[in-house]
Amino acid sequence: MSYVSEVMERVVAKNPGEPEFHQAVKEVLDSLALVIDAHEEEYRSIGLLERLTEPERIISFRVPWVDDQGKVQVNRGYRVQFNSAIGPYKGGLRFHPTVNQSILKFLGFEQVFKNSLTGLPIGGGKGGADFDPKGKSDREVMAFCQSFMTELCKYIGADQDVPAGDIGVGGREIGYLYGQYKRITGLYEGVLTGKGLTYGGSLVRTQATGYGLVYITEEMLRHAGESLAGKTVVISGSGNVAIYAAEKAGQLGAKVVALSDSNGYIYDADGIRLDVVKEIKEVRRGRIREYAEKVPGSVYTEGKGIWTIPCDVALPCATQNELHLEDAKALVDNGCICVAEGANMPTTREATDYLLEKKLLFMPGKAANAGGVATSALEMSQNSQRLSWTFEEVDERLKRIMIDIYAKAADAAARYGVKDNFVAGANIAGFEKVADAMKAQGIV
Ligand code: NDP
Repeated sequence: MSYVSEVMERVVAKNPGEPEFHQAVKEVLDSLALVIDAHEEEYRSIGLLERLTEPERIISFRVPWVDDQGKVQVNRGYRVQFNSAIGPYKGGLRFHPTVNQSILKFLGFEQVFKNSLTGLPIGGGKGGADFDPKGKSDREVMAFCQSFMTELCKYIGADQDVPAGDIGVGGREIGYLYGQYKRITGLYEGVLTGKGLTYGGSLVRTQATGYGLVYITEEMLRHAGESLAGKTVVISGSGNVAIYAAEKAGQLGAKVVALSDSNGYIYDADGIRLDVVKEIKEVRRGRIREYAEKVPGSVYTEGKGIWTIPCDVALPCATQNELHLEDAKALVDNGCICVAEGANMPTTREATDYLLEKKLLFMPGKAANAGGVATSALEMSQNSQRLSWTFEEVDERLKRIMIDIYAKAADAAARYGVKDNFVAGANIAGFEKVADAMKAQGIV
Protein backbone atom coordinates (compact mmCIF):
# COMPACT_ATOMS: atom_id res chain seq x y z
CA MET A 1 0.00 0.00 0.00
CA SER A 2 1.31 3.50 -0.79
CA TYR A 3 2.44 5.74 2.08
CA VAL A 4 -0.42 8.18 1.34
CA SER A 5 -3.09 5.43 1.48
CA GLU A 6 -1.60 4.01 4.66
CA VAL A 7 -1.68 7.38 6.41
CA MET A 8 -5.20 8.10 5.15
CA GLU A 9 -6.45 4.80 6.61
CA ARG A 10 -4.77 5.63 9.88
CA VAL A 11 -6.33 9.11 10.00
CA VAL A 12 -9.83 7.66 9.48
CA ALA A 13 -9.27 4.94 12.13
CA LYS A 14 -7.77 7.30 14.70
CA ASN A 15 -10.29 10.11 14.27
CA PRO A 16 -13.72 8.45 14.23
CA GLY A 17 -16.77 10.66 13.68
CA GLU A 18 -14.75 13.51 12.14
CA PRO A 19 -15.91 13.59 8.50
CA GLU A 20 -14.82 17.16 7.76
CA PHE A 21 -11.31 16.39 9.01
CA HIS A 22 -11.15 13.20 6.91
CA GLN A 23 -12.35 15.17 3.87
CA ALA A 24 -9.69 17.86 4.25
CA VAL A 25 -6.85 15.41 4.84
CA LYS A 26 -7.94 13.23 1.92
CA GLU A 27 -8.12 16.17 -0.46
CA VAL A 28 -4.67 17.39 0.55
CA LEU A 29 -2.96 14.00 0.61
CA ASP A 30 -4.46 12.97 -2.73
CA SER A 31 -3.06 16.04 -4.40
CA LEU A 32 0.29 15.58 -2.65
CA ALA A 33 0.62 11.99 -3.86
CA LEU A 34 2.84 13.13 -6.74
CA VAL A 35 5.33 14.79 -4.38
CA ILE A 36 5.17 12.13 -1.71
CA ASP A 37 5.65 9.24 -4.10
CA ALA A 38 8.80 10.99 -5.33
CA HIS A 39 10.22 11.19 -1.76
CA GLU A 40 8.46 8.20 -0.20
CA GLU A 41 11.42 6.58 1.55
CA GLU A 42 12.68 9.81 3.06
CA TYR A 43 9.26 10.96 4.30
CA ARG A 44 8.41 7.53 5.73
CA SER A 45 11.68 7.41 7.64
CA ILE A 46 10.81 10.64 9.50
CA GLY A 47 7.09 9.88 9.90
CA LEU A 48 6.34 13.11 8.10
CA LEU A 49 2.71 12.47 7.15
CA GLU A 50 1.82 10.88 10.49
CA ARG A 51 3.12 14.03 12.21
CA LEU A 52 1.59 16.40 9.69
CA THR A 53 -1.90 14.94 10.23
CA GLU A 54 -1.72 14.93 14.04
CA PRO A 55 -2.30 18.32 15.71
CA GLU A 56 0.52 19.35 18.04
CA ARG A 57 -2.08 20.09 20.69
CA ILE A 58 -5.87 20.37 21.14
CA ILE A 59 -7.21 22.36 24.06
CA SER A 60 -10.88 21.96 24.91
CA PHE A 61 -12.50 23.79 27.78
CA ARG A 62 -15.71 24.76 29.57
CA VAL A 63 -17.07 28.27 28.94
CA PRO A 64 -19.66 29.17 31.60
CA TRP A 65 -21.51 32.50 31.40
CA VAL A 66 -24.75 34.06 32.61
CA ASP A 67 -27.47 35.13 30.14
CA ASP A 68 -29.80 38.13 30.41
CA GLN A 69 -32.38 36.03 32.22
CA GLY A 70 -29.85 35.20 34.93
CA LYS A 71 -29.54 31.62 33.71
CA VAL A 72 -26.17 29.88 33.62
CA GLN A 73 -25.15 28.75 30.13
CA VAL A 74 -22.27 26.41 29.35
CA ASN A 75 -20.53 26.20 25.97
CA ARG A 76 -17.49 24.28 24.82
CA GLY A 77 -14.42 26.18 23.69
CA TYR A 78 -11.47 24.87 21.68
CA ARG A 79 -8.09 25.79 20.32
CA VAL A 80 -6.44 23.41 17.88
CA GLN A 81 -2.69 24.18 17.67
CA PHE A 82 -1.95 22.20 14.54
CA ASN A 83 1.55 22.93 13.33
CA SER A 84 4.22 25.44 14.41
CA ALA A 85 7.04 24.35 12.08
CA ILE A 86 7.26 27.71 10.29
CA GLY A 87 5.97 30.14 12.93
CA PRO A 88 3.58 30.72 15.85
CA TYR A 89 0.12 29.16 15.44
CA LYS A 90 -2.18 31.49 13.53
CA GLY A 91 -5.83 31.04 12.58
CA GLY A 92 -9.27 32.32 13.40
CA LEU A 93 -11.83 31.71 16.13
CA ARG A 94 -15.29 30.60 15.01
CA PHE A 95 -18.40 31.07 17.18
CA HIS A 96 -21.21 29.03 15.64
CA PRO A 97 -23.55 26.32 16.98
CA THR A 98 -22.10 23.79 14.51
CA VAL A 99 -18.55 24.13 15.85
CA ASN A 100 -17.02 20.82 16.90
CA GLN A 101 -13.59 19.20 17.00
CA SER A 102 -13.85 17.78 13.47
CA ILE A 103 -14.59 21.16 11.91
CA LEU A 104 -11.82 22.91 13.83
CA LYS A 105 -9.30 20.18 12.96
CA PHE A 106 -10.23 20.46 9.26
CA LEU A 107 -9.84 24.23 9.43
CA GLY A 108 -6.58 24.02 11.39
CA PHE A 109 -5.13 21.50 8.95
CA GLU A 110 -6.02 23.66 5.94
CA GLN A 111 -4.60 26.68 7.72
CA VAL A 112 -1.14 25.10 7.90
CA PHE A 113 -0.83 25.04 4.10
CA LYS A 114 -2.58 28.36 3.58
CA ASN A 115 -0.27 30.16 5.99
CA SER A 116 2.76 28.59 4.36
CA LEU A 117 1.56 29.79 0.94
CA THR A 118 1.51 33.41 2.10
CA GLY A 119 5.31 33.25 2.39
CA LEU A 120 5.05 34.73 5.92
CA PRO A 121 6.36 33.06 9.11
CA ILE A 122 3.10 31.72 10.56
CA GLY A 123 2.11 28.21 11.66
CA GLY A 124 -1.44 26.83 11.57
CA GLY A 125 -4.19 26.74 14.18
CA LYS A 126 -7.93 27.28 14.60
CA GLY A 127 -10.35 27.59 17.47
CA GLY A 128 -13.78 28.66 18.58
CA ALA A 129 -16.88 27.56 20.44
CA ASP A 130 -20.36 26.18 19.84
CA PHE A 131 -21.74 29.56 20.94
CA ASP A 132 -24.23 31.35 18.70
CA PRO A 133 -23.82 35.14 18.87
CA LYS A 134 -26.97 35.56 16.77
CA GLY A 135 -29.83 37.07 18.79
CA LYS A 136 -27.63 37.64 21.85
CA SER A 137 -27.41 41.04 23.52
CA ASP A 138 -24.12 42.92 23.59
CA ARG A 139 -23.77 42.16 27.28
CA GLU A 140 -24.24 38.43 26.67
CA VAL A 141 -21.62 38.45 23.90
CA MET A 142 -19.21 40.28 26.20
CA ALA A 143 -19.85 37.85 29.07
CA PHE A 144 -19.21 34.92 26.77
CA CYS A 145 -16.03 36.43 25.28
CA GLN A 146 -14.63 37.24 28.71
CA SER A 147 -15.24 33.72 29.99
CA PHE A 148 -13.80 32.20 26.80
CA MET A 149 -10.61 34.30 27.06
CA THR A 150 -10.20 33.65 30.79
CA GLU A 151 -9.32 30.08 29.83
CA LEU A 152 -7.78 30.60 26.38
CA CYS A 153 -5.26 33.22 27.61
CA LYS A 154 -3.22 30.45 29.26
CA TYR A 155 -2.32 29.00 25.88
CA ILE A 156 -1.79 31.96 23.56
CA GLY A 157 0.70 34.84 23.20
CA ALA A 158 2.20 37.17 20.59
CA ASP A 159 5.06 34.72 19.86
CA GLN A 160 3.10 31.55 20.62
CA ASP A 161 -0.40 31.55 19.15
CA VAL A 162 -2.23 34.53 17.64
CA PRO A 163 -5.96 33.94 16.97
CA ALA A 164 -8.14 36.16 14.74
CA GLY A 165 -11.81 36.29 13.71
CA ASP A 166 -13.83 33.87 11.62
CA ILE A 167 -17.56 33.13 11.33
CA GLY A 168 -19.35 34.84 14.22
CA VAL A 169 -16.21 36.59 15.45
CA GLY A 170 -15.86 40.12 14.12
CA GLY A 171 -14.55 43.42 15.46
CA ARG A 172 -16.89 43.47 18.46
CA GLU A 173 -15.89 40.02 19.68
CA ILE A 174 -12.16 40.62 19.06
CA GLY A 175 -12.44 43.81 21.17
CA TYR A 176 -14.00 42.00 24.13
CA LEU A 177 -11.51 39.13 23.85
CA TYR A 178 -8.55 41.52 23.69
CA GLY A 179 -9.74 43.55 26.67
CA GLN A 180 -9.99 40.42 28.82
CA TYR A 181 -6.57 39.11 27.70
CA LYS A 182 -4.95 42.41 28.63
CA ARG A 183 -6.75 42.56 31.94
CA ILE A 184 -5.64 39.08 32.99
CA THR A 185 -2.09 39.04 31.66
CA GLY A 186 -1.21 42.72 31.96
CA LEU A 187 0.33 42.52 28.49
CA TYR A 188 -0.40 44.98 25.70
CA GLU A 189 0.80 42.80 22.88
CA GLY A 190 -0.29 41.61 19.43
CA VAL A 191 -1.99 38.46 20.73
CA LEU A 192 -5.04 38.80 18.47
CA THR A 193 -5.42 40.21 14.98
CA GLY A 194 -8.44 41.91 13.50
CA LYS A 195 -8.20 44.46 16.30
CA GLY A 196 -9.81 47.90 16.09
CA LEU A 197 -7.72 50.69 14.62
CA THR A 198 -7.51 52.53 17.95
CA TYR A 199 -5.81 49.62 19.73
CA GLY A 200 -3.32 48.02 17.36
CA GLY A 201 -5.41 46.95 14.38
CA SER A 202 -4.17 47.20 10.82
CA LEU A 203 -5.79 49.14 8.04
CA VAL A 204 -7.18 46.80 5.31
CA ARG A 205 -7.59 43.84 7.73
CA THR A 206 -11.39 44.18 7.54
CA GLN A 207 -11.33 44.16 3.73
CA ALA A 208 -8.37 41.78 3.33
CA THR A 209 -9.96 38.39 2.70
CA GLY A 210 -12.52 39.68 0.21
CA TYR A 211 -10.08 42.03 -1.54
CA GLY A 212 -7.41 39.31 -1.65
CA LEU A 213 -9.89 36.86 -3.14
CA VAL A 214 -10.65 39.30 -5.94
CA TYR A 215 -6.95 40.13 -6.52
CA ILE A 216 -6.10 36.46 -7.04
CA THR A 217 -9.21 35.92 -9.18
CA GLU A 218 -8.18 38.81 -11.40
CA GLU A 219 -4.66 37.40 -11.67
CA MET A 220 -6.00 33.95 -12.62
CA LEU A 221 -8.30 35.53 -15.23
CA ARG A 222 -5.43 37.66 -16.56
CA HIS A 223 -3.33 34.57 -17.24
CA ALA A 224 -6.27 33.17 -19.20
CA GLY A 225 -6.53 36.35 -21.28
CA GLU A 226 -9.61 37.55 -19.37
CA SER A 227 -10.43 40.11 -16.69
CA LEU A 228 -13.19 40.90 -14.22
CA ALA A 229 -14.24 44.05 -16.06
CA GLY A 230 -17.72 43.59 -17.48
CA LYS A 231 -18.21 40.15 -15.87
CA THR A 232 -21.32 39.09 -13.95
CA VAL A 233 -20.46 37.75 -10.50
CA VAL A 234 -22.45 35.71 -7.97
CA ILE A 235 -21.23 35.67 -4.37
CA SER A 236 -22.67 33.52 -1.58
CA GLY A 237 -22.79 34.79 1.98
CA SER A 238 -23.13 38.41 3.09
CA GLY A 239 -20.60 38.48 5.88
CA ASN A 240 -17.13 39.94 6.03
CA VAL A 241 -15.62 38.02 3.13
CA ALA A 242 -18.62 38.34 0.81
CA ILE A 243 -19.13 42.07 1.35
CA TYR A 244 -15.52 43.04 0.62
CA ALA A 245 -15.22 40.64 -2.28
CA ALA A 246 -18.28 42.36 -3.75
CA GLU A 247 -16.76 45.79 -3.08
CA LYS A 248 -13.46 45.02 -4.85
CA ALA A 249 -15.15 43.16 -7.72
CA GLY A 250 -17.29 46.25 -8.30
CA GLN A 251 -14.21 48.50 -8.21
CA LEU A 252 -12.63 46.34 -10.92
CA GLY A 253 -15.65 46.76 -13.17
CA ALA A 254 -17.61 43.58 -12.49
CA LYS A 255 -21.33 43.48 -11.70
CA VAL A 256 -22.25 41.50 -8.57
CA VAL A 257 -25.87 40.36 -8.93
CA ALA A 258 -26.45 38.06 -5.94
CA LEU A 259 -25.61 37.57 -2.26
CA SER A 260 -27.07 35.25 0.39
CA ASP A 261 -27.24 34.33 4.05
CA SER A 262 -28.26 31.10 5.75
CA ASN A 263 -31.96 31.81 5.08
CA GLY A 264 -31.94 32.66 1.37
CA TYR A 265 -30.51 34.80 -1.42
CA ILE A 266 -31.13 38.09 -3.20
CA TYR A 267 -30.89 38.79 -6.92
CA ASP A 268 -30.51 42.30 -8.29
CA ALA A 269 -30.07 42.46 -12.08
CA ASP A 270 -28.87 46.07 -11.81
CA GLY A 271 -26.02 45.10 -9.52
CA ILE A 272 -26.20 44.78 -5.74
CA ARG A 273 -26.11 48.08 -3.83
CA LEU A 274 -23.44 47.49 -1.22
CA ASP A 275 -24.34 50.54 0.86
CA VAL A 276 -27.72 48.89 1.52
CA VAL A 277 -26.12 45.50 2.32
CA LYS A 278 -23.60 47.07 4.70
CA GLU A 279 -26.35 48.93 6.53
CA ILE A 280 -28.34 45.70 6.94
CA LYS A 281 -25.46 43.42 7.84
CA GLU A 282 -22.73 45.53 9.43
CA VAL A 283 -24.86 48.13 11.22
CA ARG A 284 -28.08 46.33 12.16
CA ARG A 285 -26.96 42.66 11.94
CA GLY A 286 -30.19 41.99 10.01
CA ARG A 287 -31.22 39.42 7.37
CA ILE A 288 -30.47 39.61 3.65
CA ARG A 289 -34.19 39.42 2.73
CA GLU A 290 -34.51 43.02 3.96
CA TYR A 291 -32.56 44.08 0.84
CA ALA A 292 -35.50 43.15 -1.40
CA GLU A 293 -37.83 45.19 0.82
CA LYS A 294 -35.57 48.25 0.33
CA VAL A 295 -34.43 48.01 -3.29
CA PRO A 296 -37.20 47.98 -5.93
CA GLY A 297 -36.67 45.45 -8.70
CA SER A 298 -34.59 43.07 -6.59
CA VAL A 299 -35.88 39.63 -5.62
CA TYR A 300 -35.44 37.55 -2.47
CA THR A 301 -35.71 33.76 -2.64
CA GLU A 302 -35.94 31.69 0.52
CA GLY A 303 -33.64 28.68 0.75
CA LYS A 304 -30.75 27.44 -1.38
CA GLY A 305 -30.38 27.93 -5.12
CA ILE A 306 -28.01 30.88 -5.53
CA TRP A 307 -25.78 28.88 -7.93
CA THR A 308 -28.62 28.59 -10.46
CA ILE A 309 -28.23 32.32 -11.22
CA PRO A 310 -26.29 32.74 -14.49
CA CYS A 311 -22.84 34.27 -13.97
CA ASP A 312 -19.33 34.39 -15.41
CA VAL A 313 -17.59 34.18 -12.05
CA ALA A 314 -18.77 32.46 -8.85
CA LEU A 315 -17.27 33.28 -5.46
CA PRO A 316 -18.57 31.02 -2.65
CA CYS A 317 -17.96 33.04 0.53
CA ALA A 318 -20.35 31.59 3.15
CA THR A 319 -19.28 28.29 4.67
CA GLN A 320 -17.96 24.76 4.09
CA ASN A 321 -19.72 22.35 1.71
CA GLU A 322 -22.17 24.91 0.31
CA LEU A 323 -21.52 24.25 -3.39
CA HIS A 324 -22.54 20.72 -4.38
CA LEU A 325 -22.24 18.72 -7.60
CA GLU A 326 -25.66 19.86 -8.87
CA ASP A 327 -24.64 23.47 -8.19
CA ALA A 328 -21.39 22.97 -10.13
CA LYS A 329 -23.41 21.54 -13.03
CA ALA A 330 -25.75 24.53 -12.99
CA LEU A 331 -22.79 26.93 -13.05
CA VAL A 332 -21.20 25.12 -15.99
CA ASP A 333 -24.50 24.91 -17.89
CA ASN A 334 -24.94 28.65 -17.45
CA GLY A 335 -21.50 29.43 -18.90
CA CYS A 336 -19.55 30.22 -15.73
CA ILE A 337 -15.79 30.28 -16.45
CA CYS A 338 -14.27 30.78 -13.02
CA VAL A 339 -14.85 29.72 -9.41
CA ALA A 340 -12.68 31.02 -6.57
CA GLU A 341 -13.32 30.05 -2.95
CA GLY A 342 -13.62 32.86 -0.41
CA ALA A 343 -14.86 30.46 2.27
CA ASN A 344 -12.95 27.45 3.52
CA MET A 345 -13.80 24.25 1.59
CA PRO A 346 -17.17 25.57 0.29
CA THR A 347 -17.03 23.31 -2.76
CA THR A 348 -17.56 19.60 -2.14
CA ARG A 349 -15.01 17.16 -3.47
CA GLU A 350 -17.38 15.92 -6.24
CA ALA A 351 -18.16 19.48 -7.29
CA THR A 352 -14.46 20.42 -7.34
CA ASP A 353 -13.61 17.38 -9.47
CA TYR A 354 -16.43 18.27 -11.87
CA LEU A 355 -15.28 21.88 -12.24
CA LEU A 356 -11.69 20.77 -12.88
CA GLU A 357 -12.86 18.18 -15.39
CA LYS A 358 -14.84 20.89 -17.20
CA LYS A 359 -11.67 23.03 -17.26
CA LEU A 360 -13.07 25.95 -15.33
CA LEU A 361 -10.54 28.23 -13.68
CA PHE A 362 -10.76 27.06 -10.06
CA MET A 363 -8.84 28.55 -7.13
CA PRO A 364 -9.16 26.68 -3.81
CA GLY A 365 -9.78 28.52 -0.54
CA LYS A 366 -6.40 27.92 0.93
CA ALA A 367 -4.90 30.09 -1.80
CA ALA A 368 -7.86 32.31 -2.64
CA ASN A 369 -8.80 33.41 0.88
CA ALA A 370 -5.24 33.63 2.26
CA GLY A 371 -5.34 37.44 2.08
CA GLY A 372 -7.04 37.55 5.48
CA VAL A 373 -4.37 35.69 7.35
CA ALA A 374 -1.63 37.38 5.34
CA THR A 375 -2.89 40.79 6.45
CA SER A 376 -3.17 39.45 9.99
CA ALA A 377 0.53 38.63 9.76
CA LEU A 378 1.13 42.20 8.54
CA GLU A 379 -0.81 43.37 11.61
CA MET A 380 1.55 41.26 13.79
CA SER A 381 4.56 42.90 12.11
CA GLN A 382 3.19 46.39 12.74
CA ASN A 383 2.46 45.49 16.39
CA SER A 384 6.03 44.21 16.88
CA GLN A 385 7.44 47.36 15.33
CA ARG A 386 4.92 49.57 17.17
CA LEU A 387 4.15 51.24 13.85
CA SER A 388 1.07 51.62 11.63
CA TRP A 389 1.34 51.47 7.88
CA THR A 390 -0.99 53.43 5.58
CA PHE A 391 -4.00 51.85 3.84
CA GLU A 392 -2.20 52.03 0.49
CA GLU A 393 0.94 50.38 1.87
CA VAL A 394 -0.94 47.43 3.39
CA ASP A 395 -3.19 47.08 0.33
CA GLU A 396 -0.18 47.05 -1.97
CA ARG A 397 1.53 44.35 0.12
CA LEU A 398 -1.71 42.33 0.11
CA LYS A 399 -1.96 42.57 -3.66
CA ARG A 400 1.66 41.45 -4.08
CA ILE A 401 1.13 38.52 -1.71
CA MET A 402 -1.95 37.34 -3.65
CA ILE A 403 -0.15 37.59 -7.00
CA ASP A 404 2.75 35.68 -5.49
CA ILE A 405 0.42 32.96 -4.18
CA TYR A 406 -1.01 32.57 -7.68
CA ALA A 407 2.53 32.24 -9.05
CA LYS A 408 3.52 29.64 -6.43
CA ALA A 409 0.41 27.51 -7.04
CA ALA A 410 0.77 27.76 -10.82
CA ASP A 411 4.48 26.95 -10.68
CA ALA A 412 4.05 23.91 -8.41
CA ALA A 413 1.23 22.58 -10.61
CA ALA A 414 3.37 22.95 -13.72
CA ARG A 415 6.43 21.36 -12.04
CA TYR A 416 4.44 18.24 -11.21
CA GLY A 417 2.78 17.95 -14.61
CA VAL A 418 -0.72 19.13 -13.66
CA LYS A 419 -0.66 22.58 -15.24
CA ASP A 420 -3.51 24.90 -14.17
CA ASN A 421 -4.66 22.52 -11.45
CA PHE A 422 -4.41 25.08 -8.66
CA VAL A 423 -5.87 22.65 -6.09
CA ALA A 424 -2.80 20.44 -6.48
CA GLY A 425 -0.50 23.42 -6.98
CA ALA A 426 -1.59 25.21 -3.79
CA ASN A 427 -1.32 22.06 -1.71
CA ILE A 428 2.10 21.19 -3.09
CA ALA A 429 3.53 24.70 -2.72
CA GLY A 430 2.18 25.04 0.85
CA PHE A 431 3.43 21.56 1.77
CA GLU A 432 6.99 21.95 0.47
CA LYS A 433 7.95 24.72 2.90
CA VAL A 434 6.34 23.05 5.94
CA ALA A 435 7.87 19.65 5.09
CA ASP A 436 11.30 21.20 4.75
CA ALA A 437 11.05 22.98 8.11
CA MET A 438 9.76 19.82 9.84
CA LYS A 439 12.62 17.81 8.38
CA ALA A 440 15.18 20.35 9.57
CA GLN A 441 13.77 20.48 13.12
CA GLY A 442 13.98 16.74 13.81
CA ILE A 443 11.35 14.45 15.28
CA VAL A 444 9.31 16.91 17.35
P1 NDP B 1 -19.31 35.97 8.65
O1 NDP B 1 -19.82 35.38 9.91
O2 NDP B 1 -18.98 37.41 8.57
O3 NDP B 1 -20.31 35.64 7.44
C1 NDP B 1 -20.68 34.35 7.12
C2 NDP B 1 -21.77 34.43 6.07
O4 NDP B 1 -22.06 33.11 5.61
C3 NDP B 1 -23.06 34.99 6.59
O5 NDP B 1 -23.75 35.65 5.56
C4 NDP B 1 -23.81 33.73 7.02
O6 NDP B 1 -25.21 33.87 7.04
C5 NDP B 1 -23.41 32.78 5.91
N1 NDP B 1 -23.48 31.39 6.41
C6 NDP B 1 -22.89 30.88 7.53
N2 NDP B 1 -23.21 29.59 7.70
C7 NDP B 1 -24.03 29.28 6.66
C8 NDP B 1 -24.70 28.12 6.25
N3 NDP B 1 -24.60 26.98 6.96
N4 NDP B 1 -25.46 28.17 5.11
C9 NDP B 1 -25.55 29.31 4.39
N5 NDP B 1 -24.95 30.45 4.74
C10 NDP B 1 -24.20 30.44 5.83
O7 NDP B 1 -18.01 35.06 8.26
P2 NDP B 1 -16.83 35.40 7.27
O8 NDP B 1 -17.32 36.18 6.12
O9 NDP B 1 -15.71 35.90 8.09
O10 NDP B 1 -16.41 33.92 6.81
C11 NDP B 1 -17.01 33.27 5.69
C12 NDP B 1 -16.12 32.11 5.26
O11 NDP B 1 -14.82 32.63 4.93
C13 NDP B 1 -15.88 31.04 6.31
O12 NDP B 1 -15.72 29.79 5.65
C14 NDP B 1 -14.53 31.45 6.90
O13 NDP B 1 -13.85 30.35 7.48
C15 NDP B 1 -13.83 31.94 5.65
N6 NDP B 1 -12.71 32.83 5.90
C16 NDP B 1 -12.85 34.01 6.57
C17 NDP B 1 -11.76 34.84 6.75
C18 NDP B 1 -11.90 36.17 7.37
O14 NDP B 1 -10.90 36.93 7.37
N7 NDP B 1 -13.06 36.57 7.90
C19 NDP B 1 -10.42 34.45 6.31
C20 NDP B 1 -10.38 33.22 5.53
C21 NDP B 1 -11.49 32.45 5.38
P3 NDP B 1 -25.98 34.03 8.46
O15 NDP B 1 -25.74 35.44 8.89
O16 NDP B 1 -27.38 33.71 8.13
O17 NDP B 1 -25.35 33.02 9.40
